[in-house]
Amino acid sequence: MKTLDPAPQGAPVVADASAFASLSLHPTLVRTLAEEGYRTPTPIQAKAIPPAREGHDLLGIAQTGTGKTAAFALPILHRLVANAMPNARPPKGRRPRVLVLSPTRELAAQIGESFATYGRSLPVRGTVIFGGVGQHPQVAAIKRGLDILVATPGRLIDLLGQGLIDLGGVDTFVLDEADRMLDMGFIEPIRRIAGALPRRRQTLLFSATMPTEIESLAGQLLHDPVRVEVTPVATTVDRIAQRVYGVAKRHKTTLLLQLFEEEPVDLALVFTRTKHGADKVVRQLRAAGVSAGAIHGNRSQNQRTQALDAFKSGRSPVLVATDIAARGLDVDGVTHVFNYDLPMEPEAYVHRIGRTARAGASGIAISFCDAQERGLLKAIERLVKLSIPRAELPAAMPEDARPTDGPAEAAPPSRSGGRGGSRGRGGHAGHGGRARRSGGSSRAGAAGRSSGSGRGKRSDAPTSSADGRREGMGRAGRSRKNTRAGKAFAGRR
Ligand code: AMP
Repeated sequence: MKTLDPAPQGAPVVADASAFASLSLHPTLVRTLAEEGYRTPTPIQAKAIPPAREGHDLLGIAQTGTGKTAAFALPILHRLVANAMPNARPPKGRRPRVLVLSPTRELAAQIGESFATYGRSLPVRGTVIFGGVGQHPQVAAIKRGLDILVATPGRLIDLLGQGLIDLGGVDTFVLDEADRMLDMGFIEPIRRIAGALPRRRQTLLFSATMPTEIESLAGQLLHDPVRVEVTPVATTVDRIAQRVYGVAKRHKTTLLLQLFEEEPVDLALVFTRTKHGADKVVRQLRAAGVSAGAIHGNRSQNQRTQALDAFKSGRSPVLVATDIAARGLDVDGVTHVFNYDLPMEPEAYVHRIGRTARAGASGIAISFCDAQERGLLKAIERLVKLSIPRAELPAAMPEDARPTDGPAEAAPPSRSGGRGGSRGRGGHAGHGGRARRSGGSSRAGAAGRSSGSGRGKRSDAPTSSADGRREGMGRAGRSRKNTRAGKAFAGRR
């Protein structure tokens, strides 16, 4: 179990200088946010924090990347300390006061890390539990006493069934990414968990979309909620330079390798449709000297954590992922998303490419479309209301790399394609970043670390302000690196 270090020492931070002070948050929280470089609340934070701090139920419609985690974590931390007796400790035993449910293990870990970051100078304690790893350390952390429990539904139901946790003391319940929960078939577990909670409680429900199933779930779980909504899908999409290559299926890896040579790739997420496909791409990339890892549902939690750590640190700058595993991935500095396969669900395209526009940054999304995938491409273009610019295959590609019956036709454009319009000529020779093959000047091979890349220094030292903040947004990731999935987090006592 890891206890976070106290807040880093540095120049004194003037709490009142932060716009967060105007949200009437606890001064210690305001100071921590200033230390993290958070200057202005994001729109979801500005809208959600005041009613949540007052104790209202909330229906938040927001995607990852909008700052929604802090939108619920900050008022929760505020209420925990504002209502606490001085020096109060969480009750010993198994009764958390706050329960946050997350659909995936990765998102649960990230939420836990955000709580640890924001609450590092507060007398609060929490832990993250999820399946795929042994339950004993998690149970031990619960027994020691905690205020905040972040959980995936499966493991929580397990521990509830074993009588190892008691939800009777929960006064705040957060359901994050509710639409994803339903997609993943968690409706019954959610009902069971909600049934184990006190009826009198505050409930905060966040969802990226609001289909009727979520409306009705909200109707059952929330009492007179305040509804807050931000960032329609297209807004994120607009910040991302997008293009698509028509390419025969068997030449997709060749094209990927070619683009690694030509593009300024620093950290790249590559999406495949299947787990088997992800493993195959990783094998092919490694055979070509590119340091790559895979993250998908068939891998053990340890393997997933290792792959993610290697990716975040830049040791392995290419991560090949399936949609489920990548949901909620919050890695700052992803420069490129490659859709090696187009997703079956057009909404997944938006989630995938949003991995490269974290915290207000822009990014590049490159899709491969073979002859069988044209219908999928059209569906995506209808959803995002963009005609995604078609790119010419790089000259170095083999003659037969085009899909059999010519390049995919663009769907009738409703407006131009994001920032990507002019980039359709297949790259910029000589710009290769870290994700290059052996033999390149900054290869991603064995060590995977480029001395010439500005990011090479990121692996050990805490992220400096120049490295970690982009376009005016700080990053909790600086401190997120200090914690590990599945471990307890604790602030000052
Ligand atoms: P989320 O949507 O919760 O996944 O947050 C996306 C990213 O934005 C995370 O890396 C946060 O650390 C960062 N972030 C959240 N709120 C702010 C803020 N007010 N200022 C700067 N960065 C923020």
